[in-house]
Amino acid sequence: MIFFSTSKSSTPVSLKRATLEGLAPDGGLYVPAEVPRFSAEELSLLESGTFNNVAFSIARKFAGAEVPLDTLSRLIDECYGFDTPLREVGEGTFVEELFHGPTLAFKDYGARFLARMTGYFAAEDRKMITVLVATSGDTGSAVAYGFNGIPNTRVVLLYPSGKVSRLQEQQLTTAGDNVFALEVQGDFDDCQRLVKQAFVDPDLKRALTLTSANSINISRLIPQSFYYAWASLQLSRRFPGKPLLFSVPSGNYGNLTAGVLARMMGFPIGHFVAASNANDSVTRYLSDGRYEPRQTVRTLTTAMDVGNPSNFARLLHFYDNDFRKMGSEITGISVTDGETIETIRSVYERSGYIMDPHTAVGYRALEEFRRARPGDGYPGVVLSTAHPVKFDEAIMTAIGAEVPIPEEMKAVMDKPKKATLIGNGYSDLSRFLQNLDR
Ligand SMILES: *Cc1c(COP(=O)(O)O)cnc(C)c1O
Repeated sequence: MIFFSTSKSSTPVSLKRATLEGLAPDGGLYVPAEVPRFSAEELSLLESGTFNNVAFSIARKFAGAEVPLDTLSRLIDECYGFDTPLREVGEGTFVEELFHGPTLAFKDYGARFLARMTGYFAAEDRKMITVLVATSGDTGSAVAYGFNGIPNTRVVLLYPSGKVSRLQEQQLTTAGDNVFALEVQGDFDDCQRLVKQAFVDPDLKRALTLTSANSINISRLIPQSFYYAWASLQLSRRFPGKPLLFSVPSGNYGNLTAGVLARMMGFPIGHFVAASNANDSVTRYLSDGRYEPRQTVRTLTTAMDVGNPSNFARLLHFYDNDFRKMGSEITGISVTDGETIETIRSVYERSGYIMDPHTAVGYRALEEFRRARPGDGYPGVVLSTAHPVKFDEAIMTAIGAEVPIPEEMKAVMDKPKKATLIGNGYSDLSRFLQNLDR
């Protein structure tokens, strides 16, 4: 399959090039030249398939002849050895739990696939790819665990000292031998600045093949369509003929964009609710067609605190820059911190189900969407992006109870921390990177 840039001024590339480059040379984001379609017959065959069958059938359409099918199938099995349960928490309302991967957040779906595709393509070129990421928490741990032990790859993670939770720090600093954690004496902005500087450093460019692993990489986006496809096939059997709603807690809008991709491929999805917190640039765009990104504001749902979402360029591309067209398939709803806490509490009181704050934003937005359209009775899926234990303070505030730590997590807490302390000037980082091969 061929991919081109949303900025349209660089040459189209293969999946391999798009994966290894991340961002297109013209600064745009890679999108498929043509989105593959599933026929009605293919869809009905997939209905009885496993999650990994569905994932494989999508991945092969994007990979084409670039990855042998038996290899692709093995890579998918390595990625997704965990469950993707759909829990019914109310009449026709389902929570799709995307937090059963190793770091208990949905970013595992994208990071694990990206890691294996990167490793496969790097091995073809007999190259060592160095993934450089600045993280304030969740992306970094998904990337660390995703690339853990993948040949031809290594990861260098920069995180701000003392500014991530203990659980996050354990996840960042205890992965395998090809994952290097750098504890930066500074804040997250320092980490980001250092990473940017490394990417434009000509000396480094000669020494290493650097890449980033943020949500702009097409190989992180494609796998996020898997769980939309899977859920839509499960539920269309149960609710035949009813258009399915998906409510998506959004920050950079990569997750939502992957849903749009699944819908374009022909999976039975009716409409999207794009749920945001106070960072509502896209919500406002959907109401009046004006895109005016604002300064990021801090909320309870920190993973969604994005003032200028990176994947918005892809959404514009898929909807021909037409906000009415986008609005006919996506409704934006913004939720306050107070409503988020209230939702965690009311869902818990009604059903005993504990949801993390990001999921609660999605749940609340779905409720609001339905309230404005009584009688539709559409089944709805809220994507649950994180395990509640990751945001236990908010849960304590909402319901006054602690979330039990899952077994997998307890093991991580006991591992010895392995990190290198560096200053917030560029020389420490550059020295570390230059010495990686010595
Ligand atoms: C990253 C993240 C989000 C936002 O996802 P986007 O793809 O950036 O929109 C939502 N919830 C959690 C827990 C996350 O880690």
